[in-house]
Amino acid sequence: MTAEEQRLDSLNQAQALISAAQRPLLITHIDPDGDAIGSLLGLGWALVRLGQSPVLYCRDGVPPRYDFLPGADRVVTTPHGSTDLVIAVDCADIGRLGLSADDLSRLNDRPSINLDHHVTNTGFASVNIVDTEAVASAEVVLQIVDALGVPLDATIATCLLCGIVTDTLGFRTANVTPRVLEQAARLMRAGASLAEINEQALNRRPFSGLCMWAAGLKTLRREDSIVWAHLTRAARAECGPVQGAETGLVSFLLSAQEAEVAALFTERDDGTVDVSLRAKPGRDVSAVAMALGGGGHPLAAGCTLPGPLDEAEARVLGLLRAHLREQAEGGRYHRR
Ligand code: 5GP
Ligand code: MN
Repeated sequence: MTAEEQRLDSLNQAQALISAAQRPLLITHIDPDGDAIGSLLGLGWALVRLGQSPVLYCRDGVPPRYDFLPGADRVVTTPHGSTDLVIAVDCADIGRLGLSADDLSRLNDRPSINLDHHVTNTGFASVNIVDTEAVASAEVVLQIVDALGVPLDATIATCLLCGIVTDTLGFRTANVTPRVLEQAARLMRAGASLAEINEQALNRRPFSGLCMWAAGLKTLRREDSIVWAHLTRAARAECGPVQGAETGLVSFLLSAQEAEVAALFTERDDGTVDVSLRAKPGRDVSAVAMALGGGGHPLAAGCTLPGPLDEAEARVLGLLRAHLREQAEGGRYHRR
């Protein structure tokens, strides 16, 4: 089968599973971002239009900045009730689902669909639609919505456009093609407001988030083309509760002219360290993240490491140095 035939075959299989379901459980990843929530809600609304009663689950709930999305108040933080189909969106591996061991074994015998765009996706479901060319999982959800024959409306379109806008940082990432702009235009024609999504999801952050930028930037370091910073538990406590507000700081670190890769290390309350990695086009931090048990995309990846902070930093910096050295050596023979 060609790749295109395979894609159509998986779409057909997913469509058949969805059509046979009554009460699907939709799951998006822990520490959700705009694509996670937008894809979850967009697909949820499409299934509601089909007369289904989906349960929308995200272990960590909806970050306040995505409260404006229709249906945000319907997302639950425990996967309650019976279900006849599990659909994961934007989850690269089973760990990202945030399910307890009990829930995982309870759901183990249900059919499952995995809709995603991460290169590191492990293909953990019965039907896997992983389109690594898609800039957001929302684009993959759009393919499913079309395959199901659900007409786009403003509600579905707003959720999906939010996924595309946030994962491309407002159409600024290297993977944005004319196709992506065409999809976005289609979602706008269906009634999604690009201006409102930009305003809510990109132009605002809580003051506590700015406080964390200040705390993080105080720890700013550079070694050749690696720029990094960290947020200690104490700094986070001082700034007040903030969920996902670290998002943005690591991209800001990468904006340094000298930077080829950037890393942000955030100490969690349980002492583990959340590692956020970013790279300039031509580099690849997904391999480093995967080597440490995480995953992501070539230009944006992450993982969680045991503490303490300085040991986690040393491990990641070691791998980043090796990665840059390897590319420098390869680059002499293989010009990009
Ligand atoms: P962020 O730095 O924004 O948290 O994550 C960047 C990218 O890496 C996202 O696509 C996210 O899904 C992925 N990612 C972040 N942390 C992890 C992780 O611990 N495991 C996996 N598999 N992917 C991660
Ligand atoms: Mn995501």
